[in-house]
Amino acid sequence: MDWGELGHHFSVEYCLYIMSDNKTTSQAPSNFIRGVIERDLTNKSYDGKTWAGSPGDASHHAKAPIDTAKIRTRFPPEPNGYLHIGHAKSIFLNFGLAKDYDGICHLRFDDTNPEKENQEYVDSIKNNVSWLGFSWEQNKTSHLYFASHYFDFMYQAAESLIQSGHAYVDKQTPDEIRIHRGSLTEPGKNSPWRDKSTEEHLAWFREMRDGKHPDGSMILRAKIDMASPNINLRDPAIYRIKRAHHHNTGDTWCIYPMYTFAHPIEDALEKITHSICTLEFEDQRPFYDWILDRLIDNSLLSKPQPRQYEFARLNLTYAVLSKRKLIELVEGKHVTGWDDPRLPTLEGARRRGYTPEGFKLFIDRIGVSKADSWIDYATLEESMREVLNVSCERRIAVLDPIELEITNYPDNKEEDCFAPNHPLKPELEKRIVKLSKSLWIEREDFMEEPTKQFFRLYPGNMVRLRYGYVVKCTSFEKDTNGKVTKVICEYLPDTKSGTPGSDSIKVKGNIHWVSNAHSYRGKVRLYDKLFSAEHPGSHDTNYLEQLNPNSCTAIEAELEKSLEAIQPGDQFQFERHGYFIADVKDSKPNQPIFNRTATLKDTSQKI
Ligand code: ATP
Ligand code: MG
Repeated sequence: MDWGELGHHFSVEYCLYIMSDNKTTSQAPSNFIRGVIERDLTNKSYDGKTWAGSPGDASHHAKAPIDTAKIRTRFPPEPNGYLHIGHAKSIFLNFGLAKDYDGICHLRFDDTNPEKENQEYVDSIKNNVSWLGFSWEQNKTSHLYFASHYFDFMYQAAESLIQSGHAYVDKQTPDEIRIHRGSLTEPGKNSPWRDKSTEEHLAWFREMRDGKHPDGSMILRAKIDMASPNINLRDPAIYRIKRAHHHNTGDTWCIYPMYTFAHPIEDALEKITHSICTLEFEDQRPFYDWILDRLIDNSLLSKPQPRQYEFARLNLTYAVLSKRKLIELVEGKHVTGWDDPRLPTLEGARRRGYTPEGFKLFIDRIGVSKADSWIDYATLEESMREVLNVSCERRIAVLDPIELEITNYPDNKEEDCFAPNHPLKPELEKRIVKLSKSLWIEREDFMEEPTKQFFRLYPGNMVRLRYGYVVKCTSFEKDTNGKVTKVICEYLPDTKSGTPGSDSIKVKGNIHWVSNAHSYRGKVRLYDKLFSAEHPGSHDTNYLEQLNPNSCTAIEAELEKSLEAIQPGDQFQFERHGYFIADVKDSKPNQPIFNRTATLKDTSQKI
């Protein structure tokens, strides 16, 4: 196909929608979780709920006023890595629901695992959530919480479970515990320690806390049912001994709660109403409810209790969305760092030029369901494109420059041509681009021997220099290797764009250019998919062996002079090429380096 006038096709309503702020208004597509919330609100399920202004146990909330938040949700990252695009789905969902239903969304760091957690991740996560347009502050109250602040309560909850006969210390070895757990077809076997006295279990648990036993030598388990068909209910572990320094509590503790025990407690202390998580936790839901029921019976927590709902996690083709794999990519130096623009981390996506508005469009588009599936990376790119098409001004860059000389154009003449800054926003007016005798054009806009359907420059053919004149190719020059070094043309003086004679000659090709004297040479990075495999790592393949060797190409382009003085982070559409952002990290004053965010879709239609 010929490039011609490329642009994008979309409706005015759509532009207005994607230009509106992050508030998921009535346009936000419905989903089963919205259905649950609407049902709960209709049934007034949470009407008596109180909130003491901060998280706490039953007595803390008992005499507190009625909660002004209709619902409470939370986004609970573990600060053990950088957030990725999958997390964005969870952020939009949780914060979006709170916004739409007069609720509050907490940002909670789920930092109950002392290893691998650190402050750098905490800072980056806060930054990412704000960047996506959400705040954990409401009416001047911050709802930023740390699960590690609840360690005292969790310990107390564990003691209370022992006292009510619902937990016990198991001294079996990890191997014995595994063997006695049974299988999908066989029930498990009770531990010989299970029926010791409450006093003994309590004393052993206190010894665990006091550092009297080595790591891994005993654990605290919930006493449920070793024959349960749900293996997660076969006396799951709730506390383990682990001598590790915690980023928040230091060396105060040598025992730490297990995630599946801690999570429902965190939700309950924070009076969360709808605890939304990914499908892997579906089988844990009975244990989530079991813990809360027991602690409500023991008067440590109060009703109404939080409920867990599961949705399908986001899987994106040609990408890996797992903190562990992302860590491997960074530590193995397969990418330049956490914010490498090829990575699906939010830091990387931001540097690539992806925008919060683009993410919102994408997340709305893919919806929320209970069925696991892969979302095509192209859907993400298309969402970004649609937003950038509206937001970005146009500029001109020649990515693979070759000289074009207009032999019949006066040597020292410079002439103003007028290029619209944004074809959809005439109010942004036009800017002047200078025409002169020597120009740069794209190498691929010339062919010595044209193929069929090639309507651009070849000897004898005419094209329009966009915003300028029609030129006719008269000859070209080659070097000794046969490489074309210069295209030679004549211009037709009456055909300037915007003048009455511009239509006097019809041509099929329309190419962009910059004047040699009014352009500068600058660095541009062209990105492609990080993986060549559609489902990296699937079917026992090694995702590290599926990296695309051509995922980044650095080139020297000829760019319109006005691009020299822009600010890092500024974004443009380079006509016919796609969307680009001035890199925030590597750009220097007056020397921006551009990252390609996305190409223009070549099936796009005329504006
Ligand atoms: P990873 O598997 O990448 O380590 P995680 O689930 O361990 O992710 P957390 O920090 O525990 O990461 O996640 C915080 C929240 O984000 C959780 O509620 C989790 O369900 C959600 N989340 C994580 N990955 C995805 C995903 N791919 N799609 C949707 N939500 C996700
Ligand atoms: Mg996790």
